[in-house]
Amino acid sequence: IWDKSLLMIAEKVGDSTFDLWFKPIKPIQLKDKTIILEIPNRFFRDWIEDYYPTIIADVLEGVLGYPVTVKYKTAEKEDAVLRKMDSILENRRSKLASRGIYLNPRYTFDTFVVGPSNQFAHAAAVRVGENPGFAYNPLFIYGGVGLGKTHLINAIGNAIVDKNPGMIVHYVSAEQFTNEVVSALRHEKMGDLKEKYRNVDVLLVDDVQFISGKTTTQEEFFHTFNTLYEKQRQIVVSSDRLPMDISDITDRLRSRFSMGLIADIQPPELETKVAIIYKKADAEKLIISDEVAYFIAAHVKSNIRELEGCLIKLGAHASLTGMPIDINMAKNVLKDLISEDNKPITPDIILKAVGEYFGIKVQELKTKKRTKEIVNARQIAMYIAKQQTQLSLSEIGRYFGGKDHATVIYACKQIEDKRSKDENLNKSIENISKKLKG
Ligand code: ADP
Ligand code: MG
Repeated sequence: IWDKSLLMIAEKVGDSTFDLWFKPIKPIQLKDKTIILEIPNRFFRDWIEDYYPTIIADVLEGVLGYPVTVKYKTAEKEDAVLRKMDSILENRRSKLASRGIYLNPRYTFDTFVVGPSNQFAHAAAVRVGENPGFAYNPLFIYGGVGLGKTHLINAIGNAIVDKNPGMIVHYVSAEQFTNEVVSALRHEKMGDLKEKYRNVDVLLVDDVQFISGKTTTQEEFFHTFNTLYEKQRQIVVSSDRLPMDISDITDRLRSRFSMGLIADIQPPELETKVAIIYKKADAEKLIISDEVAYFIAAHVKSNIRELEGCLIKLGAHASLTGMPIDINMAKNVLKDLISEDNKPITPDIILKAVGEYFGIKVQELKTKKRTKEIVNARQIAMYIAKQQTQLSLSEIGRYFGGKDHATVIYACKQIEDKRSKDENLNKSIENISKKLKG
């Protein structure tokens, strides 16, 4: 069973990741729908939970035909303090879970480092945590991947649960919500779903952009939203983009998202990154020098998950080799980071970023399709390509499915003109450019 699962995991994650993180895992026991896996040290668990939180359980479920709980056991003897912390957190997790509250106990305001890039969102989240339903409703948190949205939204939930033990706090990803709607429809259980969602005290919906294009889910969410809002129950949503940039959602939902407060999280500055590294190192009892901390911070552009990933990788390496973490080890272990620096921005990268931003397939940006949304996104991509690459107009045209240079000039002119009047457009372009740099 395990060998088969490993093969499937290898297929999903690619060889180098697999060899480094998954290959060393050994199955110890499978009993009562729980599997115990032995891993070399805690950093393996941390890394897998950060990057592939459900992959092992998903693959095993596919192979076995029923869901299993995955537990880890470390081969090394662990630091007693760390083990104690882990078990406190795990207890809290299962206590909450037994009440139907699925918050991550690690994501609290205490463990969140505040800097200029996130202080506004953080302050708003704290207020909502102190005064659910009455501070800002809804609170809409938006920001790029790995910048702390899930952390903040969980921190709100944890703060509320701590202060108001009786409150029903429901955290759900938009993807999970969609699955629940689909399943409720199929099994004719819509009544139950409505009952459940319209009676919570606090609803936290993560990655709400996922409901783009999903009409029935949007419909259900809209009514849930209204019911909760009227009862002054707190709603918090997170998204990787602004409400106006989520494609394929109904205007009435878009406007609901904008009714309360919209708070953004920007990519962290160097100092904030360094502070986050120290905080995380502290929590993992890793000793690192300023030099190593700055090295990581300088090379990881913005994604905080990557930042932590580097530290975890170093921790794993140090633990396996018994060597202290120093700058040479950092340079060696993280060398793929360095080679990625100064990568020139290419039209392909721009197409990908623009496509992701607007939820449009790259293929559609390259073809002749002329819906309003696609034309607009395509023009933005051309405009950015003109600004950020050294390519000539006809070269740019070629990347966009063989358009001539006049088309590119026209596109750039259109965007120029619109930029002077359209603040939203400016924001979008700014966000995409940031994404390119990050
Ligand atoms: P997102 O949901 O925006 O993609 P996450 O909330 O999952 O990002 O954050 C990615 C990782 O970075 C998490 O492990 C989180 O704890 C950590 N993180 C993000 N922002 C901060 C911060 N300001 N302080 C400490 N850790 C952070
Ligand atoms: Mg998230």
